[in-house]
Amino acid sequence: MGGYSTSRRIMVLEQLLPRGISDSGVIAAMGRVPRHFFVDEALWPLAYSDTPLMIAGGQTISQPYIVALMSELIRARPGMRVLEIGTGSGYQAAVLAEMGLEVYSVEFLRELHISAAALLRKLDYQRVRLKLGDGTLGWPEQAPFERIMVTAGGRDIPEPLLEQLADPGILVMPAGSRKRLQQLVTLRKENGRLIRENKGSVSFVDLVGRHGW
Ligand code: SAH
Repeated sequence: MGGYSTSRRIMVLEQLLPRGISDSGVIAAMGRVPRHFFVDEALWPLAYSDTPLMIAGGQTISQPYIVALMSELIRARPGMRVLEIGTGSGYQAAVLAEMGLEVYSVEFLRELHISAAALLRKLDYQRVRLKLGDGTLGWPEQAPFERIMVTAGGRDIPEPLLEQLADPGILVMPAGSRKRLQQLVTLRKENGRLIRENKGSVSFVDLVGRHGW
């Protein structure tokens, strides 16, 4: 699809496998999604580099490894319903769709919502459903979700997302009391219990909205 397939293979071989990404569904999806289409054409030569990239609205598309890590941490199986908060460029949503998931994604900024919708339609990611709004409120009409992924950094996990997470279910989110420096947190809901783990430091743009900054 539009070239760059060699760049994608090198990205997988040099950035994902050596750092321990092992979920075959994630690896296959990252090898297929044409990441360059999700950034400005001027950035295409950098699209598969080991770095986050600027998108519109002062936002960023995460480094490939972080996209893969979050996709692996949710331990998803095809057919599961996943809610993503922070559609941004739509790249993470496309990766989740390539993993065979039923993707629901919410974006706060109209400009990004509109361009992601157009691009995902053009690339034929039909299973992705998008909504413009405050994702810290979740998407109650479509809940519960077996998996939830927040791709912006907030102080803590928004309460509505906890409620909309299925049991059993897994949520992943960058959380912390300082902006631009978070712990990647996983939260498993199992038999009514919540099990929380930290998976290392990350740096994400702000999660805004009612339960955000
Ligand atoms: N997942 C995206 C990158 C996310 S950048 C990708 O693959 O490109 C973080 C995004 O979260 C930004 O687009 C920002 O506008 C959005 N965001 C921040 N707070 C939000 C909220 N409360 N609800 C929905 N989206 C939010």
